[in-house]
Amino acid sequence: MKYTKLSFIFLCLLLTLSACGDVPASADAASPPAGAAEAGSLQDTGDPAMLDLFSMDTFMSFQAYGADAESALSNVSAMITSLDSQLSVTNESSEIYQVNHASGASVTLSGATADLLSKALALGRNTDGALELTSYPLSRLWGFTTGEYQIPTQSQIDSLLPLVDDSQITLSDQTVTIPKGAQLDLGAVAKGYAGDQAAEILQSHGVSSALLNLGSSTIHAIGPKPDGSDWRIAIQDPEDTSAYAGVVSISDRSVNTSGGYERYFEGEDGKIYWHILDPKTGYPADSGLRSVTILSDSALTGDGLSTALFVMGLDKAVSYWQDNGGFDFILITADGEIYLTEGAEACFSPLGKYVNAPLHVIRHAD
Ligand code: ADP
Ligand code: MG
Repeated sequence: MKYTKLSFIFLCLLLTLSACGDVPASADAASPPAGAAEAGSLQDTGDPAMLDLFSMDTFMSFQAYGADAESALSNVSAMITSLDSQLSVTNESSEIYQVNHASGASVTLSGATADLLSKALALGRNTDGALELTSYPLSRLWGFTTGEYQIPTQSQIDSLLPLVDDSQITLSDQTVTIPKGAQLDLGAVAKGYAGDQAAEILQSHGVSSALLNLGSSTIHAIGPKPDGSDWRIAIQDPEDTSAYAGVVSISDRSVNTSGGYERYFEGEDGKIYWHILDPKTGYPADSGLRSVTILSDSALTGDGLSTALFVMGLDKAVSYWQDNGGFDFILITADGEIYLTEGAEACFSPLGKYVNAPLHVIRHAD
């Protein structure tokens, strides 16, 4: 609940931010937007068309401009609702639930789920084990799936680690097979995939300006604002969820953030344990990073990489970017320092205590 409440407050702040194009400052920015409580309601406000939706365990909000924007958003709503019902790890009729309970047998997926799985596996393959969709048994053990948190014993973790290995997933067209005992969770990439699919639907309806907020950690912009200016997206301060670390000005790009503050608990030992796990150790990723923001064309890529780079830590994240490119990042370390690529520097303005924070610009190696 803590998670969804925080997401909701941040969502409201973001909406105000993008609506006025100004830096968030006032407390009244946290009041809910009209209609937001009515999950799935379409608002006929003329220009822009608006959609508020509760899906994938978070509040989503979309604004789109164009003559056909309203019916496009209606299709977006149906697409995300359907995707959510197929990807749920707890809904017994979902495709992922069936895969996770097939005891090693093959399961035939819908086109969308197979497409997502294939793209996510391709992305993860390149991350040296930082993004493993088979991390779900570990998430369950820690209680991140139910809120019944516990610090597991080392032997409990060790018994699950052999199951956390995406190379054991076989996907052939729409048929997937995973070993008995292994379990999938597409939570690290689902919102990003939904963002890409939503953008495709909107663009096919002639929408060339829209802001898709899939729960504050995944924001996808189609085009610029209708007046041609950039969207301004706030990045949360990972140490203080009521404050911002900065703002990025973007058009036609995705902004995905992963942070330890999204879902966590304090253990009996007084330590904080968060929901992004290092698949190699079975423990919450302790890489020295507090948040990772990825700027990318594809929301799926940004969503997956924000999780993966959070696990990798600073040095590996920089190497990954230098080797692969195709995106920008903004990393905030536990020391409150910011590391960002040259492309991110061009559109990032620090806020609050980060105005005076050390800012390190990462450039492509010559
Ligand atoms: P959020 O969903 O909070 O925006 P992320 O996109 O970073 O955050 O995804 C985190 C989710 O991904 C976790 O809740 C869990 O379901 C799953 N997960 C955690 N660690 C990993 C990992 N190393 N690889 C793949 N999935 C992970
Ligand atoms: Mg992610």
